[in-house]
Amino acid sequence: MSNGTRIDPEEREPRAIKLRHPKHTGRKIVLSVLSALLIIAIGGGVFALIEYGPDLGFSMVSGETSKDSESEKPAEDEPLQSSQPEIPEEPVSEPEQVVTEEPIEEDPEHEEDVDEPEVPAEPPKPEIPKDEWYMLLVNKENVLPEDFKITGAIIDQENHIVNELIYDDLSEMVAAGTSEGLRFTFYTAYRTYEKQKELFEAGKTDVPPGASEHNSGLAVDIGCSVGEFEGSPEEAWLLEHAHEYGFILRYPEGKEDITGFAHEPWHFRYVGKEQAKLIKESGLCLEEYLAQ
Ligand SMILES: [Zn+2]
Repeated sequence: MSNGTRIDPEEREPRAIKLRHPKHTGRKIVLSVLSALLIIAIGGGVFALIEYGPDLGFSMVSGETSKDSESEKPAEDEPLQSSQPEIPEEPVSEPEQVVTEEPIEEDPEHEEDVDEPEVPAEPPKPEIPKDEWYMLLVNKENVLPEDFKITGAIIDQENHIVNELIYDDLSEMVAAGTSEGLRFTFYTAYRTYEKQKELFEAGKTDVPPGASEHNSGLAVDIGCSVGEFEGSPEEAWLLEHAHEYGFILRYPEGKEDITGFAHEPWHFRYVGKEQAKLIKESGLCLEEYLAQ
């Protein structure tokens, strides 16, 4: 349909003018001129429709795009056979729309790509709750004040005391190990500043008052009922499960220079379940972990 309407106006004008001039005279010439003008006017109108086809004649555009959609490469050959001025305009107008849309979509993506690399640089280090009570750092360089106090809870028949805030998790840990046939005992738990001072001045410890984790109420020295703790099933179980209840081995082997304490297999320190897991996985001692 579209091809027929385009070809006719171009071919009729020259033919009509050439054929009618020699045959008619007088009024007929006037009529023929008028008719020719009408044809020209009609032809011009058709031209106008064709020229402004992309805006006015949507059916023409859709008809050709359907051909293009079947196969884009053959469509470039067809326009050359029918009417050259029209089709070159439309293919050009279509790519322009596509080209203008793509950069707009790509630009924000590129901008996002630029922003993304900056984000991953931060996540590797989750914020350590250094100010929380369970992350309290106590060592020979970070000494507790003389008036440091806790609210204690008794954990055994020998009246060993810990900070009441760790009582539940400690009880759960002991209960879990006990249910597997293990037998835990407590050698030391909370020790007052005054008691630490007394032992230090008596030469029974080289740890000054306020410099022992036992002064915080967050640490316990655990033993077993039979034999040495080191190498016992109780020690093996704690090394595997203590972090599940918020406890870490506070003075690991190889960290003596950093902790300021010799390796103590029995000394476990509460830091909360989440941090205990992270510290255990990190392989760092508490000083190293908090220094990140
Ligand atoms: Zn201890």
